[in-house]
Amino acid sequence: MKIVVLGPPGAGKGTQAVKIAEHYKIPHISTGDLFRSNISEGTELGKLAKTYIDKGDLVPNEVTINMISERLTHADAANGFILDGFPRAYDQAVALQQLLAEKNGETYAPDNHGQGLDAILSFEISDEAVVERLKSRGREDDQESVILNRLKVYAEQTAPLLDFYSKELSVIDALGSEEEVFQRTLAALSS
Ligand code: AMP
Repeated sequence: MKIVVLGPPGAGKGTQAVKIAEHYKIPHISTGDLFRSNISEGTELGKLAKTYIDKGDLVPNEVTINMISERLTHADAANGFILDGFPRAYDQAVALQQLLAEKNGETYAPDNHGQGLDAILSFEISDEAVVERLKSRGREDDQESVILNRLKVYAEQTAPLLDFYSKELSVIDALGSEEEVFQRTLAALSS
C-alpha cells in the first residue's frame, strides 16, 4: 500500500498514520518527525528546518523534497509506505508524482495526480476542534500564535492539494475517538 494522508494540523492524521502503518506493515514516514530527529541530532538540515518550524512556516520545498526522496530509497519503503505531512505544497505533490513514476519505471503522466499511489486520505475537521486539540498536545510549536500561522499556511499552501487530488481523494470525518476514526479509515482503504 502506498498512501498519502492529508489534513490540517491537529486533525489526528499522525495518530491514524501510525495505526495504518502497523496494520499494513508499512513504514510511517513523517516529514515532521524526520525534521524533529534532525533537530535533536543537531544536523545542518535540523538547524535549517528549526528556523521555519519554530514559526510554523514550511521548510523550503527543495530541502523537504530531497529529504523524502532519500527516505524513499530505503529498503523498507520498496513495497509500500504511508506519507504523513508530505506533500504539503503544490510543488511537493508534483515532485512526488514524478519521483514515484521514475521509481516504478513509468512515464510521468501529468494528469494522473495519484500516479504511483494507492490511496490519498483526507482527514477533515473544523478549525475550532483543531485549535482545541493542538493546545492540549503541548509540542514546542503548539503555542497559539504558531498554531494560527500553521493553519494559515495549511489553508494557503496545503488545502489546494485537495483539488489537485480531487479524483483520488477519500474523505474521512476526523471527529470521534481514535478507534472510530481508524475504523472509518480502514473502511475507506478497503473500498
Ligand atoms: P508536522 O509534524 O507534520 O506537524 O510538521 C511540523 C513542522 O515541520 C511544520 O509546521 C513545518 O514547519 C515542517 N514540515 C513538515 N512537513 C513539511 C513539508 N512537507 N514541507 C515543509 N515543511 C514541513
